[in-house]
Amino acid sequence: MVSETFPASLHAKEREKLCSFAACAAERAYARYSHFRVGAAVLGLRGTYLGANIENASYGLSLCAERVALAAALTQGETSIRALAIAFLDVPSDFAVNEALPCGACRQWIAELAPGAEIIICPGQRVLRLSDLLPDAFRLREPEQPIEAEVTHVQG
Ligand SMILES: [Zn+2]
Repeated sequence: MVSETFPASLHAKEREKLCSFAACAAERAYARYSHFRVGAAVLGLRGTYLGANIENASYGLSLCAERVALAAALTQGETSIRALAIAFLDVPSDFAVNEALPCGACRQWIAELAPGAEIIICPGQRVLRLSDLLPDAFRLREPEQPIEAEVTHVQG
């Protein structure tokens, strides 16, 4: 279960460090088509998880850095995400402020996996919350009983 509590805000030095991790992650972006490298760093209770944008010739299949980092956190067992920092390389001269914000798909992922996280837009260290980006987020009702994973044993 992902925590929905609001952890204490990060200190400026913590934000700066998380942004430096996000910028390092951006170096590994696969931005063959846009040439716009984005990195994300997720800070959880257990550690820090990185992601970068991964583009595809079929544009709709591209992944944003935020979702890659959130998937890394989840698959490594993270259950409480405190912050998500987003950094950019190759910023174009006509870069608009809204281009630095997570896209709609990422906002929905944040609503699902990191609803209490501090969202840090690294240029300027702008700090946002999900309620700033996606008020009244789409949510499904919690199942009444936990869904048990079906375990299949592989016999060798
Ligand atoms: Zn996105």
